[in-house]
Amino acid sequence: MLAPGRKAMAYRRRMGFLENMRSVWPTPHQAGGRTWVFVPYDRLNDRIGPLAKLKPEEAGLILIESHAKGRNRPYHKKKVLVVLSNMRHFALEQKARGVMVAFRNAPESYGEQLLAVQQELGIDTIHTALPAERELRKDLEAAVAAGLRLDVVADDAWLSTPEDWEAVFGSGKAARGRQYLMEKFYRHMRKKTGLLMTPTGSFVGGKLSFDEENRRPYKGEVPVPTRPTFAPDAITLELIDWLSGNGIESIGTFEGFDLPCTAEDCATFWQFALAELLPHFGPFEDAMSSREPMMFHSAISALMNVSRLLPREIVADVAAGYEGMTVPLASAEGFIRQIVGWREFVRHMHNATDGYRTIEQSPDPPENLHAHEYSHLLVKNRNPAAPDQPARPSALDAHLPLPPAYWGVRSGMFCLDTATGQVMQQGWSHHILRLMVLSNLATLCGFSPRELTDWFWVAYVDAYDWVVEPNVLGMATFADGGLTATKPYVSGAAYIDRMSDYCGKCALNPKKSTGPGSCPFTALYWTFMERHQDLLGSNQRMRMPFATLRKKTSEEREALRERAARAIGQLERGEIVD
Ligand SMILES: Cc1cc2nc3c(=O)[nH]c(=O)nc-3n(C[C@H](O)[C@H](O)[C@H](O)COP(=O)(O)OP(=O)(O)OC[C@H]3O[C@@H](n4cnc5c(N)ncnc54)[C@H](O)[C@@H]3O)c2cc1C
Ligand code: SF4
Repeated sequence: MLAPGRKAMAYRRRMGFLENMRSVWPTPHQAGGRTWVFVPYDRLNDRIGPLAKLKPEEAGLILIESHAKGRNRPYHKKKVLVVLSNMRHFALEQKARGVMVAFRNAPESYGEQLLAVQQELGIDTIHTALPAERELRKDLEAAVAAGLRLDVVADDAWLSTPEDWEAVFGSGKAARGRQYLMEKFYRHMRKKTGLLMTPTGSFVGGKLSFDEENRRPYKGEVPVPTRPTFAPDAITLELIDWLSGNGIESIGTFEGFDLPCTAEDCATFWQFALAELLPHFGPFEDAMSSREPMMFHSAISALMNVSRLLPREIVADVAAGYEGMTVPLASAEGFIRQIVGWREFVRHMHNATDGYRTIEQSPDPPENLHAHEYSHLLVKNRNPAAPDQPARPSALDAHLPLPPAYWGVRSGMFCLDTATGQVMQQGWSHHILRLMVLSNLATLCGFSPRELTDWFWVAYVDAYDWVVEPNVLGMATFADGGLTATKPYVSGAAYIDRMSDYCGKCALNPKKSTGPGSCPFTALYWTFMERHQDLLGSNQRMRMPFATLRKKTSEEREALRERAARAIGQLERGEIVD
């Protein structure tokens, strides 16, 4: 366990962070000469939003820590820490620049606290950019209804605008039956930004995407470089101390926290990724390795999602890396696609569906609420009496409760235990573990997409409503019925065996599909196909697997069903799958 111990105590004895902030709390008279800007937890940067337009001596900055936000769901300790420590460091950085800072830490919501600050300091209007999270938008809307005077401008942290979305997909809310393909949007954005475009307006390398070159398994060909780590400083240690004693429920551990929390350290973290990881990112983008859990992934999502790193600067650096011949085209294009394409796309999907509320809903049965001892961790978000219900689409009619294995209880499935172990420890895993292990298994078994979304939301350091819901409900589980994916992302054991070194270390056999000791993924895959034949049978992209399914005898199908049911039962009971 990381010992907050002496270093933090010494800092507190001098003057704790909150005490420090209280000592510089402005008087109404001091506040009067400034333009006041509210910067939420996920926009910690002075190069964006209303703050970017002000000289330091003209600006007043309101930063808020809300216990109510922390009580919404039991977030991973490292997520809370990376957000709040970056916010506290941002406060000090802005103060050092000459910005007047009003920093609050209180039980109320952001909107309620803003209203209190406005009244206390006699501020006429508070300025902010349109929040990325729906949850915060709703909170601020309620405060405005209660009297908060707020001037909201467009959020320039994004690379795209609502007009870009409309230019590709038209206006109006999204509904079942329409299709929103990321590739179309990405094509538009490449042209708009000019990233990796030739002077004559065509795609560098002659094509939009190099995705098919980016699917190599990893056999240690290129050593994965050691990343820089950032030991918690006195501010972070003090925060650990406070978070450990504030009575707000959380999961995971503070132990091993090494993420950057100052602007300078965040920049160092990115420069390392650009120079050392990006050159090999593309080819091994989909590979999974038990020895190298992070592979060549940048791990910048947690920092970019709180705007310590700005997407526009990140993609410009990568394009410059390609031009300077330090980043090969397949890697540069693959990485830019993730940000200019996927990241921007999911944020618009979130808006177009009002957080997936505009599409057909399919609530989980009430017995899920008390399914097992870990269920209470998701209960808040599933409280049927809550006024603003989360979206519950489930086009594949999947309603089983998420089993204990997702909370770190050993399942005996090496791929799953590796993924959940990593998540409980770090609050992070790379994309393919999220998609092809955690979500693939949930989709094949029929675990509730809402529960899976809520799990991702609490368990990952980079999770926010605008990004986690479209990824889980849209891309990963097909809960939206194919709004964003042309077919469900599902596979049997062969894919995991090909793309990882996991199966060689597993007690289960990926080459066996039925009977004791067989890998359940394959049996789950075929029974999934059988279950959803009516819905997916006519999908052109699934013609081959359905043709293979039709060739299976009824005895083979029965053995597959038995194997799948046994594995699901064992997972649901928290037993070892054997
Ligand atoms: C089921 C599931 C849940 C996910 N939940 C989240 C989440 O809560 N927060 C989050 O930021 N990403 C999420 N993603 C997307 C992606 O997995 C992560 O952004 C990525 O793994 C973060 O690690 P990285 O920074 O090393 O990414 P890299 O592989 O280095 O990619 C670079 C950047 O591209 C962006 N990116 C890549 N793919 C996506 C995507 N599908 N959607 C949005 N941005 C993307 C991220 O900002 C990422 O930092 C999810 C994906 C899946 C399949
Ligand atoms: S054998 Fe099956 S359960 Fe084991 S690691 Fe491979 S895919 Fe996962």
